[in-house]
Amino acid sequence: MLYHREREIAIAATLAAATLCERVRHSQQEQTMTKADSSPVTVADFGAQALICQALAANFPDDSIVGEEDAHVLQQPESRAILEQVTAQVQVLRPDATQEDVITWINHGNGQISQRYWTLDPIDGTKGFIRGDQYAIALALIEQGEVKLGILGCPAFPGDHQEQGVIFVAVQGQGTEMLSLHSGQSRSLRVKATDNPSQLCLIESLETAHGNRPQQRAIAQALKFGQKTQQMDSQAKYGAIALGQADLYLRIPLPQSQHKKENIWDHAPGAIIVTEAGGKVTDLDGKPFDLTSNIKMENNRGILASNGIIHEQVLAQIRNL
Ligand code: AMP
Ligand code: MG
Repeated sequence: MLYHREREIAIAATLAAATLCERVRHSQQEQTMTKADSSPVTVADFGAQALICQALAANFPDDSIVGEEDAHVLQQPESRAILEQVTAQVQVLRPDATQEDVITWINHGNGQISQRYWTLDPIDGTKGFIRGDQYAIALALIEQGEVKLGILGCPAFPGDHQEQGVIFVAVQGQGTEMLSLHSGQSRSLRVKATDNPSQLCLIESLETAHGNRPQQRAIAQALKFGQKTQQMDSQAKYGAIALGQADLYLRIPLPQSQHKKENIWDHAPGAIIVTEAGGKVTDLDGKPFDLTSNIKMENNRGILASNGIIHEQVLAQIRNL
């Protein structure tokens, strides 16, 4: 099977990162720093990026990784305590790791976009992670601008049999699966294949600043969606669509953030999770994501992920806004 080795190594690395994140979350070591863009970052974001970059560098030394975090801030004298905590968390799984190793591994995630590269958001939805809600360890392999493999590790996502914690995995042409974080049991996923509005449900970000809720809801209302709108942090929203628990994810920029563009690591894994489950993902103008030029999707505007069947109807509503 194509990408078998990439899939196995990426799943194992995501599992290790998920274990670290949950340990940090339960140990109240959620010491938070604020980045230059005012967004929060925790011990777990850095630890998860270190573990995943180490595993990818060891197995695919020629691949670059475009990750969200940067160890520069950890090297400042005032961050010493945090660097020590990050190193201690990484050492639980990699006992020989030094502080220098941890910094080197994190910074391996500052690679360039190229013909073949990985995107990594070690904790997508850091605000959800801190709040005790959903978050995702989000990893994707891109070749020639196309997502070939996508992984979303979601330790707080309700899986089958009342177990909490799943990993969504999709490989191009091979479908989407959901694996239990605990048993490893897997099953394939399909979107809810209906255009019956009474069964349809909108999903949107839990953070009010991350999308234009009035416009998003106006579209669901115009299409007469019968199910209550859900809010969820992180790319777990794409997993919910692949599972058929929601049918439309809209991210319409607010007027004050029109200039803000989406990050590639915030959408590349989610996109393949939905498309391989039979859905469709574009921007708000129906354009595919541009993953070839920049860490920002400069040539795209907002996000539209759907079960596929309703995609054109939604695009028509967006044009009417
Ligand atoms: P979500 O959990 O879906 O709300 O998405 C979290 C992501 O939203 C973060 O990774 C940020 O990159 C991104 N983000 C931060 N501020 C904004 C904003 N004003 N508009 C849209 N997305 C944002
Ligand atoms: Mg993110």
